[in-house]
Amino acid sequence: MAASLRLLGAASGLRYWSRRLRPAAGSFAAVCSRSVASKTPVGFIGLGNMGNPMAKNLMKHGYPLIIYDVFPDACKEFQDAGEQVVSSPADVAEKADRIITMLPTSINAIEAYSGANGILKKVKKGSLLIDSSTIDPAVSKELAKEVEKMGAVFMDAPVSGGVGAARSGNLTFMVGGVEDEFAAAQELLGCMGSNVVYCGAVGTGQAAKICNNMLLAISMIGTAETMNLGIRLGLDPKLLAKILNMSSGRCWSSDTYNPVPGVMDGVPSANNYQGGFGTTLMAKDLGLAQDSATSTKTPILLGSLAHQIYRMMCAKGYSKKDFSSVFQFLREEETF
Ligand code: NAD
Repeated sequence: MAASLRLLGAASGLRYWSRRLRPAAGSFAAVCSRSVASKTPVGFIGLGNMGNPMAKNLMKHGYPLIIYDVFPDACKEFQDAGEQVVSSPADVAEKADRIITMLPTSINAIEAYSGANGILKKVKKGSLLIDSSTIDPAVSKELAKEVEKMGAVFMDAPVSGGVGAARSGNLTFMVGGVEDEFAAAQELLGCMGSNVVYCGAVGTGQAAKICNNMLLAISMIGTAETMNLGIRLGLDPKLLAKILNMSSGRCWSSDTYNPVPGVMDGVPSANNYQGGFGTTLMAKDLGLAQDSATSTKTPILLGSLAHQIYRMMCAKGYSKKDFSSVFQFLREEETF
């Protein structure tokens, strides 16, 4: 398989790369010397549910890694595999000129970049810093300004696809930043995702991600409510899911990530809602959508309601469970 990358849809203004449409080697001109497909070490900060499989895919593509996580146990299997583990984000920046961060929240990202031992303390000129965390677009813009002052480049590149797609290297990356640097980012992101989409200036990747997750939250709650109603009406949940998935109610939450235990294998609902995308992270993303809606004066009636539902779930002990546990939450609520 050719290792080169190609921008698609340029005529329509959409800069988009898909692994399925990868062209023959040699048809891609790198726009930045840093991006030439050298296997120099790549820094990776935040090895949690998503960062762990993403970093492993970089390893599979032959990139040596410089690893850091505040939770030392998260680094252990990388150390055992021979990767270099360091003791702060600043140390990562000292050893790598391309760094990917995959952190839970805006606060964690600010700490990793601008904290006492943050990336900015030792970042090298010309470094490419890609933040794949889902955070506030305004924070991405602020970080980009600070990074630019140091002579380096910042791009926001949040992901869609969940832990399964992170493992199989099929994430979708939504990328914001200087367009000339997109190709350099693709070289790394293409190892971890099958779709890499250029969205515009810094912060627009986060904007696209927040919109996607608001719709996901709404559709997951809708699927959970629907499945629960059908079960109460005497339908077999597997049969109901089958009918929905061949009908107009079909969505990702019904056909790929069904929230009802026993309907599908290999999803969090089949494993007591362990792993996957935590309820607390979904509540966080809906908070970002709420803030963005307020600042742009946009009505998001269902988005706001979804935010309240996920916040209530966090308060009732669901924060560490996958967000599809809204089905279990509704089942418990119905006894009132
Ligand atoms: P996670 O909580 O499983 O992992 C985050 C990791 O970051 C942890 O290992 C934690 O110890 C580490 N960390 C926190 N603060 C740090 C710091 N200052 N320096 C270094 N390490 C630090 O979270 P996750 O599920 O991997 O999600 C990461 C991001 O990806 C979030 O923004 C989330 O919204 C987004 N996301 C998650 C999913 C999913 O399905 N889990 C899907 C799409 C996007």
